[in-house]
Amino acid sequence: MSLIVGLTGGIGSGKTTVADYFASLGAAVVDTDVIAHELTVAQGAAMPEIEAAFGDSVLLADGGLDRAAMRRLVFSDPSEKCRLEAILHPMIRAASEARCQSAMAARAPYVMLVVPLLLESGAYRERVDRILVVDCDEDVQIARVTARSGLSIEEVRAIMATQASRPERLAAANDVVLNSAGTEQLIAQVVALHRHYLELTVL
Ligand code: ATP
Repeated sequence: MSLIVGLTGGIGSGKTTVADYFASLGAAVVDTDVIAHELTVAQGAAMPEIEAAFGDSVLLADGGLDRAAMRRLVFSDPSEKCRLEAILHPMIRAASEARCQSAMAARAPYVMLVVPLLLESGAYRERVDRILVVDCDEDVQIARVTARSGLSIEEVRAIMATQASRPERLAAANDVVLNSAGTEQLIAQVVALHRHYLELTVL
């Protein structure tokens, strides 16, 4: 049986780290953030539409998306965010679906589909067989994101306020990985879940 596990979690919870561990065990990973990035680099498939919609003030010299300029635009006018998402989201959905299909055609044991806003957007829920939540103490999330990005504590809290709450995520989860501590505990949980997913694929 084919199995698609939707992996989600709050900002800085450790989604990429967890997905990388699953990949090292043999899972096929399809990451919607990676796809979004690929679509918006120079020559990315979304760039002609983005340029037509927003003009060249949101382009870098190489033709890729100037993320800082786009952030400023979206901040000054939230409706611009909707216009950008109307271009990107259908492309991300189509590309992620195609990659899941080709991973299954290539007989991957199962697919880990990483969707940061899986619960918030709703668009992916019917495409996944199970939901795996990377759970994390909020203080740890804030510490990780501020250390990595240079965002302030208030900015990280503001982003977290737009995302599903920890109880909402846990209520929707079929499986949970707790990633508030070190990587050793994390690896043990990933290995146990990997075995469980392999068992499910042979049912
Ligand atoms: P985002 O929502 O911003 O895309 P994410 O959920 O994908 O983030 P990661 O990028 O995997 O999270 O992790 C965030 C940061 O925390 C990274 O710098 C990562 O190396 C670190 N990190 C993740 N898990 C652990 C851990 N168990 N121990 C120590 N550091 C960790």
